[in-house]
Amino acid sequence: MRIVDIGNDVHLVIGGEFPYCNTLVIFNDEIVLVDPGCKIEPLRKLLQGYDKDLKDIDTIILSHIHPDHITHTMRIHRLSKCRIATNTITAPLFNDKEKMKQFLGFEKYHPVRAAWEKLVDERMFGALDEGRVDEELHDGDKFTLGNLTLRIKYTPGHLPDHMCIEILEMNAIFAADIDCTPFGPFYGHPNSSIKDFRSSIRELQQTDYDIYISGHLEEPVVRDYKKNLSEYSQQIQYREDIIFASIANGAKTVYDIILSPVIYPSLSNIVYMQFEKWMVEHHINSLIEKNLIQLINEELVPVR
Ligand SMILES: [Zn+2]
Repeated sequence: MRIVDIGNDVHLVIGGEFPYCNTLVIFNDEIVLVDPGCKIEPLRKLLQGYDKDLKDIDTIILSHIHPDHITHTMRIHRLSKCRIATNTITAPLFNDKEKMKQFLGFEKYHPVRAAWEKLVDERMFGALDEGRVDEELHDGDKFTLGNLTLRIKYTPGHLPDHMCIEILEMNAIFAADIDCTPFGPFYGHPNSSIKDFRSSIRELQQTDYDIYISGHLEEPVVRDYKKNLSEYSQQIQYREDIIFASIANGAKTVYDIILSPVIYPSLSNIVYMQFEKWMVEHHINSLIEKNLIQLINEELVPVR
């Protein structure tokens, strides 16, 4: 249980790796939470330090629709009646969880849907609760909270609805799932995009923040974030090289390739296997686009 003080009454409750995330908590004119996917007890403890409780939270901002980032939203909303704000792509998905499931690739009769729902219910309980967004945010929108201003920055790729939140006066950014973890970028849904992820990373590298906050690192403030983002981004090329080598060595299908997993250390769970498959499929498409491989009679072959 760890809480990191960022300064100016801004804190991070460390959730760390999936199925949790780091939650940004801002005490100002109002109490604002970004991505309530941490464990609830340390959050309660932080609030108690300010003589507050979960029912005193005023606003929750969601960076994107992933269950590990929205987990406690409705639980807190039931206690506090807080305002829920997110971007225009996430909002309709939050308002209709069937739409959310389809957005993430788990259509009604998808073979892995039930296992994914079970994983969410067991480890991110509350994320599938129905609820409604009160305020829709657009790229560049600003929120003023006393002496701090939050600004929305759309950063698609991880998912099309992914956004970061800047704190202007602190020259800080909460980068959510552009998280600089050793795992590397996650683009494990059909509508994730390697191209967009890369360009969002490049965009962040062209900035000059004093404080770069990861949504999943245990040490959440990333030192030398531009260099870190380069290494993080290189994971994409590293994975693509492995996949190309696998095809060059005779793998004909995505299933042949993931016989030795590229993304996850091991595939003990059908849900992780699905994420692995979707990520590898993005690379296959990228290799086809670069004319390095082709699909002949349903079989992957290198272009010679
Ligand atoms: Zn995510």
